[in-house]
Amino acid sequence: MTSPNTRALRYAVVGAGMAGILAAIKLKERGEDFTVFEKAAEVGGTWRENRYPGLSCDVPAHAYTYTFEPYPEWKAYYATGPDVQDYFQFVTEKYGITPFIRFNTEVAGLDWSDSTSKWTVTLGDGSSGTFDVVIAASGVLHHPNVPRIEGLESFEGPAFHTARWDDDAPIDGAKVGLIGSGSTGIQIVTAINKRVEKLVHFQRSPQWVMPVPYFQYSDEEREAFRRDPALIDAIRFSDEYIGNVRRFTDAITDIDGPQMQMIEDICRDYFEQSIRDPELKEKLRPNYRAACKRLIYSWCYYDEVQHPAVFVETGKIARVEPKGVRMADGTFHELDTLVLATGFQADKFIRPAGVTGQGGMTLDAFWAERPTAHYAVTLPHFPNFFMLNGPTGPVGNFSLIDIAERQWDYIDQLIDVLRAGEAASVMPTVEAHAAYEERRIAAAKTTIFGSGCTSWYLDRTGVPASWPWSYDAFADAMAHPVMTEYAFKAAVAA
Ligand code: NAP
Repeated sequence: MTSPNTRALRYAVVGAGMAGILAAIKLKERGEDFTVFEKAAEVGGTWRENRYPGLSCDVPAHAYTYTFEPYPEWKAYYATGPDVQDYFQFVTEKYGITPFIRFNTEVAGLDWSDSTSKWTVTLGDGSSGTFDVVIAASGVLHHPNVPRIEGLESFEGPAFHTARWDDDAPIDGAKVGLIGSGSTGIQIVTAINKRVEKLVHFQRSPQWVMPVPYFQYSDEEREAFRRDPALIDAIRFSDEYIGNVRRFTDAITDIDGPQMQMIEDICRDYFEQSIRDPELKEKLRPNYRAACKRLIYSWCYYDEVQHPAVFVETGKIARVEPKGVRMADGTFHELDTLVLATGFQADKFIRPAGVTGQGGMTLDAFWAERPTAHYAVTLPHFPNFFMLNGPTGPVGNFSLIDIAERQWDYIDQLIDVLRAGEAASVMPTVEAHAAYEERRIAAAKTTIFGSGCTSWYLDRTGVPASWPWSYDAFADAMAHPVMTEYAFKAAVAA
């Protein structure tokens, strides 16, 4: 339910990835005055930045769309990265969002003024503007984690992070080193193993793999999707997808329950039946529970890793040398190219932009212990500041588009109070947020993510930085903000 505007607001949306495009579409639909600031030259966020071979989205393509914009054009059950990027570009054009985006424009600072109830948004070039509302849609996984490995800078060939893929780096017929076995590293193994002379996959931790189906859609099927959107709905709202999301989130939160047992059984059986060589099998056998790290959804990794060109190196890296990687036991891997699939600094969010809220409170200070947000969306001390896919939101093998849409519904209801002229600003109370965080942290420690492994899901104190309850609990929470948990500053008379 949205109320009519009695007060005109100006909105700054930070980021033109999946969540920023969503915010822009919703604001444009309402005829609001908004600007999207995008540091790069194109929309797409993570799908623009990542171009590594094998990049695909492990959420079924038809479920990885905005609910209001199903897409008949998907080429396969799981979309490639470039196809997902095409979708976001298509949506941006279709909804006429491009004119509202300032590309190549990085937000450097956000400063709240209590006297005017406005944010000053300072850009990288030093210019600034004032806005009533900030929508922080800057994404999570966009600051590469480049490991501190001795000698890395001495490597003579190309060495680069996966989010900075070097198209000129030798891959075909080359000796390639790949450090990291998260979703990214695993996808790269499956894409380049047959192109290289040798692929040394440096694996610090093995992964549990969930087998999933894969198939292409034919031209006839795409034509049928175009004619009859109900066919798309039958996929994206199917029990196979929605039911899986529910079962998955139930499993995460009830780690000794039947759903988790099922996930573990499927992963273990797939592993046991797939890997033939006993030595490789021991290298690939995880010593932690399935779904503790983000599960690998793959239809081909176990086949591809057994290709003769792939060597899984589980020893400790001693250092990088000009011509390759030296292991702690003295073994040397001569390499032409070194790829760092070493993940992201997942605690940055909108930073390094400096954000200063009420009373001089900075985001760095507020997040000194861990990034946190009320129901993953709002922050005490930071009025009229709303996050999409902010800290402590749901994470796992499901669509973050759905998460962002539900968060938007929550945000929209809070902004309605501002639009109606009933308040100049809104933010959660310190007490309400502290109570939420206490409950969240207690629950998060009991989820599968806290069951004894390392991953980017954990904050630096080792607590899972995620939504620790069910999918339905999240949907319920987003449907209706608890207004008594919010402090509203009275509107200034016009
Ligand atoms: P990640 O899951 O954080 O994995 C990083 C990998 O690098 C881990 O294997 C880690 O080992 C290793 N590593 C880090 N520092 C290292 C060091 N100093 N020496 C040796 N190994 C090191 O990162 P990611 O694979 O880029 O994936 C991040 C997230 O992006 C995923 O979880 C997912 O949410 C998203 N993603 C999704 C898809 C998809 O839809 N299919 C694809 C790619 C990425 P440890 O495990 O031992 O720490």
